[in-house]
Amino acid sequence: MAHLHTDVWKIDTLPDTQIEEAANQLKEGQTVAFPTETVYGLGADATNEQAVQAIFDAKGRPADNPLIVHIGSTDVLEKYVTHIPERASKLMDAFWPGPLTIILPSNGTLAKNVTAGLETVGLRMPDHPIALALLKTSELPVAAPSANRSGKPSPTTADHVYHDLNGRIAGIVDGGRTGVGVESTVIDCTLDRPMILRPGGVTQSDIEAVIGAVDIAPSKVKKDEQPRSPGMKYKHYAPDAPIWIVRGGADRMKNVAEEVAGRVTFLVSQERADELGVNDALILGSRDDLSSITSNLYDALRQIDQMDTDLVLAESFSKDGIGEALMNRLERAATKVIE
Ligand code: AMP
Ligand code: MG
Repeated sequence: MAHLHTDVWKIDTLPDTQIEEAANQLKEGQTVAFPTETVYGLGADATNEQAVQAIFDAKGRPADNPLIVHIGSTDVLEKYVTHIPERASKLMDAFWPGPLTIILPSNGTLAKNVTAGLETVGLRMPDHPIALALLKTSELPVAAPSANRSGKPSPTTADHVYHDLNGRIAGIVDGGRTGVGVESTVIDCTLDRPMILRPGGVTQSDIEAVIGAVDIAPSKVKKDEQPRSPGMKYKHYAPDAPIWIVRGGADRMKNVAEEVAGRVTFLVSQERADELGVNDALILGSRDDLSSITSNLYDALRQIDQMDTDLVLAESFSKDGIGEALMNRLERAATKVIE
């Protein structure tokens, strides 16, 4: 693709006139990366097919993997969907702005490539002041997948975005590190019984407290089976060195490390690093704070590719609350689970 000059707009406090520059780029059909509370998104005008195409091109994303559309106000929803089921409105009231993407029946107004030809559209209102300012200033629905090259972990800093997309996009709004650190929860509300297609920042129990029981899509799709979420069929990011998740404690991890040849790196909590007595582990945070472990995961995965290592042994964390999303991403990055 043609080489673009990529502006970087660093924003510490709002209001900031650089938001207008970024919004103008979006209005002109350009691609702009911006922080959300989950990960950095790569945005473009969701009503402009060429602008949306530029997202697919910059990322190298397969065309049949639809994009999430970000909105700054629920007032605009009826422009893009045929109707809003009651359960979906309840979820919006409870969790928007926030890390929940709701799949609704599309009315076909948005650019066709946003939804990859599906009759449904995934919508979300992000809970980040910069993202909301950009949405309000541009007055656009903004299609935005994660701002990484396809096959890399989602970016949690502007540096990650720059590393992957410099020269391929018009600009990056740098608002510091993102919070949640993994992508939004995706729930399909076009079904009789809503189904969680991807675990994320809003947990199953959070959702069930508002609308009652929901289904969970199986995380692995069998060959020849049509996935409910097109993204589910694509291989998730895995670093160059294989990751093995080791269930059980520090002793088990030590044994596994001793049995293999080559350099081993531990991807663990501070507590596990202490138990192992190693000082060169990749530390995700305290095991008692799963939110910070989750928030640090993608940066740690990116660091693995900078390291001289043959194998990564990762700790297995609790699947409670945000742990569900954490372990979903870690399991997708891993090649093996050792019981
Ligand atoms: P990303 O934007 O990279 O975080 O990925 C967005 C995820 O949402 C992908 O897994 C998509 O397949 C999924 N998604 C987006 N729109 C829809 C839709 N209309 N129906 C089902 N899944 C969707
Ligand atoms: Mg992504």
